[in-house]
Amino acid sequence: MKNKAIVGCLLGTAVGDALGLPYEGVSPTRAPKLLGPPDRYRFFFRRGMISDDTEHTCMAAQSLIEAHGDVVLFARRFASRLRWWILALPAGVGKATARAGIKLWLGAKPASAGVFSAGNGPAMRAAIFGAAIDDLPYMLEFVRASSRLTHTDPKAEYGAIAVALAAKHSREHPSIDTNLWLEEVVTAVGKDASEFIGLLRQAIDSVTAGDSTKVFAQSLGLVRGVTGYTYHTVPVAIHAWLSHPRDFRRAVTTIIECGGDADTTAAIVGGIVGAGVGEDGIPSNWIQGIAEYPRSVPWMRNLGEALAVVDLVKDPSQQGSITRSTAKVATVNPIAVLLRNLLFLFIVLFHGFRRLAPPY
Ligand SMILES: [Mg+2]
Repeated sequence: MKNKAIVGCLLGTAVGDALGLPYEGVSPTRAPKLLGPPDRYRFFFRRGMISDDTEHTCMAAQSLIEAHGDVVLFARRFASRLRWWILALPAGVGKATARAGIKLWLGAKPASAGVFSAGNGPAMRAAIFGAAIDDLPYMLEFVRASSRLTHTDPKAEYGAIAVALAAKHSREHPSIDTNLWLEEVVTAVGKDASEFIGLLRQAIDSVTAGDSTKVFAQSLGLVRGVTGYTYHTVPVAIHAWLSHPRDFRRAVTTIIECGGDADTTAAIVGGIVGAGVGEDGIPSNWIQGIAEYPRSVPWMRNLGEALAVVDLVKDPSQQGSITRSTAKVATVNPIAVLLRNLLFLFIVLFHGFRRLAPPY
């Protein structure tokens, strides 16, 4: 059933990203007046488009397939993709990721490209590792390699680890065992992460007390929206997941209503919940409403199916013979990406100008 979790994670990330995108950077009090509720796509007429969150998740999946379970090769493949991705004028690139991409072009090795930042870039592409890799310590190696490629502040890595473990838990446990999940996170991040663990405990206590995710975000001082700081993004995303672990629609709309970095927060929640409920658990009109090329919904589905047949096990002697023969890496046409990104940039600019006008 690996393909159910992986495809659900990929499409869940894409749907959350696309629904949240027009709300990015809008405060939770202004969003209902300016855009209305996040119950349908409002990016390009009634269609949704994906941003860096989904693109990085797809690039991680492609690199996992190519790496055949080799972490070093994975980092190399991912670094190479990231370099070209940066060149194709991605409208939503984060500062740390842009700087890491430039360092890669200047000849930096994957191990030294990252910059000291605690942004949510590593967390936004982490769920796929939890959806795809069974062995926990081995999965963590990939999450760390993916994180360090762009962000070297350990905080960014802690956030990514919590998200990956949430996605893994989501697909392995029909009913969530919060203590078990938290125990795994504590073991993985170590003693230095006490502030982060404290925040996760606060999120859990808040869910237990029956508080909404918005109330929890406000308790962290995020009245004007969830920021891209990973210690803000991840605890709030975890709160939304634990509040609605099997209800994709509510989990994703709940987090978007918190405002701020809504495409990334919703992509994270969508990836975690999607890994548990699979494509069937995601509203089908939301899947059909994504207007994308070349990374279309069928393209992402194929990518997920291909990743699902790769044996991601640490010991190569345990790998099945299908590994190298049947897993085909879905690729994208760079010219198509560039043209698509120009259109995307144009729509993003339109939204930027729209926000200058009332209602405030
Ligand atoms: Mg984004």
